[in-house]
Amino acid sequence: MIIAVDGPTASGKGTIAKALAAHFGLPHLDTGLLYRAVGRQVELTGGNPDNPADALTACGFPDALLEDEALRSEAVGSLASRVSVHPAVRQALYERQRAFALQPGGAVLDGRDIGTVIAPDAQVKLFITASVEERARRRWLEMQSRGAEVELAAIERDITARDARDMGRKDAPLIAASDTLTLDTSAFGREQAIEAALEAVQAKLSKD
Ligand code: C5P
Repeated sequence: MIIAVDGPTASGKGTIAKALAAHFGLPHLDTGLLYRAVGRQVELTGGNPDNPADALTACGFPDALLEDEALRSEAVGSLASRVSVHPAVRQALYERQRAFALQPGGAVLDGRDIGTVIAPDAQVKLFITASVEERARRRWLEMQSRGAEVELAAIERDITARDARDMGRKDAPLIAASDTLTLDTSAFGREQAIEAALEAVQAKLSKD
């Protein structure tokens, strides 16, 4: 069973994907981390994230980089969004994601193009969303708890720019697949969002 979980930044898709994976006993891949590693590697090697050749070279990042705490920062999220517009980067990361999706027993993957490009054959596709204001508030709270001093307005601007880039790119833009279940988590806390997603998945599985 493949479960595809897509959605914009801070929508709750990562939390939901992890919870679904634990519930069904499936392995989970946060595909955003791969793009973040490429963005971070470009930065570490002094390359230009907007240059397709530099970004492609960075796809050879060492696996240990995936453990780097810096990948979770807003700055690296922005770099990830810039390198992810290059078709050659998306192609370079495709096989790794596809192989993860196809492992025996199944998998849960979260990202932007899982239901549309990486696993269009997924049994269950969820599109998790929330208002920009709510997503900015969540990200701000998360950063506050890590001791980072950031302005809410700056995060909201950053999220808006990232949404525009992710939805506007030519290759694999962020859109809900036609056969997806959309879940707006704006009014939900963490547990409610997980519960709603689980219910949606179970309803879909019992219909099939
Ligand atoms: O999900 P996360 O915020 O970690 O993703 C960082 C960036 O990586 C996104 O803004 C997006 O541009 C890119 N990404 C992507 N395709 C994916 C996952 C992430 O383009 N499947």
